[in-house]
Amino acid sequence: PSKALRQFIQADRAFLQRIRSSGVSTINQSSLRYVSGTSSKMPPPIFPIPDERANTVAVGGDKNGSHEGEKTSPQKTSSDASASVHHQMSPQSPANTSPVVDGDKFDYDFVVIGGGSGGLAASKEASRLGAKVAVFDYVQPTPIGTKWGLGGTCVNVGCIPKKMMHQASLLGEAIEDAKSYGWELAGGGDKKHNWGAMVQSIQDFIHSLNWKYKVALRDVNVSYINSYAKLIDKNHIHAVNAKGKEVTVSAAKILIATGGRPKYPEIPGAKEYGITSDDIFSLQYPPGKTLCVGASYVSLECAGFLAGLGFDTTVMVRSILLRGFDQDMAERIGRAMEESHHVKFIRGAVPSKIEEIEPRQDGKAGRLRVTSTQNGKEIVEEYNTVLFAVGRDACTSTIGLEKAGVKVNPDSGKINAEYEQTNVPNIYAIGDVLDGRPELTPVAIQAGNKLARRLFAGSKVVYDYEMVPTTVFTPVEYGCIGLAEEVALKKYGKDNIEVYHGRYRPVTTRPIAGYGEEHCYAKLICNKLDDERVVGLHVLGPNAGEITQGFALGMRLGAKKRDFDDLTGIHPTDAENFVSLLITRSSGVDLSLPQCCG
Ligand code: FAD
Repeated sequence: PSKALRQFIQADRAFLQRIRSSGVSTINQSSLRYVSGTSSKMPPPIFPIPDERANTVAVGGDKNGSHEGEKTSPQKTSSDASASVHHQMSPQSPANTSPVVDGDKFDYDFVVIGGGSGGLAASKEASRLGAKVAVFDYVQPTPIGTKWGLGGTCVNVGCIPKKMMHQASLLGEAIEDAKSYGWELAGGGDKKHNWGAMVQSIQDFIHSLNWKYKVALRDVNVSYINSYAKLIDKNHIHAVNAKGKEVTVSAAKILIATGGRPKYPEIPGAKEYGITSDDIFSLQYPPGKTLCVGASYVSLECAGFLAGLGFDTTVMVRSILLRGFDQDMAERIGRAMEESHHVKFIRGAVPSKIEEIEPRQDGKAGRLRVTSTQNGKEIVEEYNTVLFAVGRDACTSTIGLEKAGVKVNPDSGKINAEYEQTNVPNIYAIGDVLDGRPELTPVAIQAGNKLARRLFAGSKVVYDYEMVPTTVFTPVEYGCIGLAEEVALKKYGKDNIEVYHGRYRPVTTRPIAGYGEEHCYAKLICNKLDDERVVGLHVLGPNAGEITQGFALGMRLGAKKRDFDDLTGIHPTDAENFVSLLITRSSGVDLSLPQCCG
């Protein structure tokens, strides 16, 4: 067997072992794979045992950030039994009452619409647990014709190429930094970036991943159907491929994992001349002078790497930066981008029209005239590229949800699905289509895996959407977990919150060149009502993603300020600044940059 298959087999064994030792084993292990029509081999899905509430474990604080009333499960009864903490479904959960559907009647036990982060995870896990599974995945081209392969947003037009372009831009800075350490460029020349070479490498890597995803599905016997799928009722799906070939399949259970796509503003020229994050990572020409419209993390990340790659970059912001994130941190990011990376910001402005002055051609950006309104005044400016990052629409409006009776929130177009179950009991939803949930790849994957285990292995473990760590990959990265400062103040009251914070000199990168050191900043937001439990951790600095991932575990386990103080730092690192945050916001003490090793 292939290495991947061996890994899956090992994962299966470990998983089954955990189920067995947990006492909820119902899988006929001699027939891990069953097929539709032989439902006698199929273990009946087990839904939560009544009175599970007593076993429910709250992780990292309940919704109020408090751990009062927490109970530790006396026995581990789930597929995630090896985890020290986990969430379980309450007996009131809708999935508790999900009917066991007769597998004889359907082509598939489980059909997933959408082969992105969540859909692929759920489909593979369901198949490994014995279900007969199919995945429909189809990419509708962007207005300028960009398309991509299997894997969804993250791998093709999201996290992966974004991180690679971020890395490309950091490498450019590292070349400058290297000069301080004695490195010299051959011939004494200046550095020069080749956009086409970078895009080629990134696209080659993505194509290799597209291929690996297909192989991974095949290895666990998931049928991959490259067609656009729509529900025709609650158990039937009709799909059409790029050549117009149609197929109709039936399924006992259906998962909606169709993700989202970038929005365009409704202004003349937006779709004709603008692009989005769906286009930038495979753009066949250097974008040139670029206007990024919007202040979402996608806009700031794109602006950051474009500026780092040497393009004249402007961000047009209607109101605030990074809505939903800590606003003190958001403003620090804006300042860092402006001061250290020469990104220009036009605040209080929205574009009203885009006109073409010169068309884009193979290998060369065009010229565009952008008319905008800033505080009631018209401004006109010329750019080579306009990139819209003004939010994303969930892909729910053209997939026949209404035919199956699945309800969406009319305001957001998203699906409200507690425990990932929609109002139609055999139809589930995960990932970016979910209402009020973080739009992040690991969230979609974890929720998908856990859902599959509940549906096909009797697990009761649900995904915990609280305390999700994340990072914005602007040139100076921003990592966070827990509450934004303003949210904590509102939730607990000003008198009950203490903020410990400090600026720091980054040691992991550029201590000599002094890159961004004036912007590096760490803060812990603590709830005084709960013995200074840390309810928010925020860091702005190089490798903030790595720092945040590590501390996220402590946060989820309910770390208090004194736990951070008692922790021994690793010297010299940036993360060690969190073990010595002494200045409180309430003291009003000015934050000066500390000397190293102080
Ligand atoms: P998707 O991954 O979007 O997959 C949905 C799939 O379904 C797509 O392939 C779509 O074409 C297909 N589809 C839609 N409708 C149909 C249909 N009717 N029939 C068949 N197929 C259909 N997250 C992070 O965690 N970290 C990051 O750093 C990060 N960076 C990002 C950067 C950018 C620029 C963007 C845009 C997103 C980023 N994200 C990041 C978010 C992350 O990519 C998404 O949260 C994640 O991909 C959502 O997964 P999903 O399974 O819900 O949907």
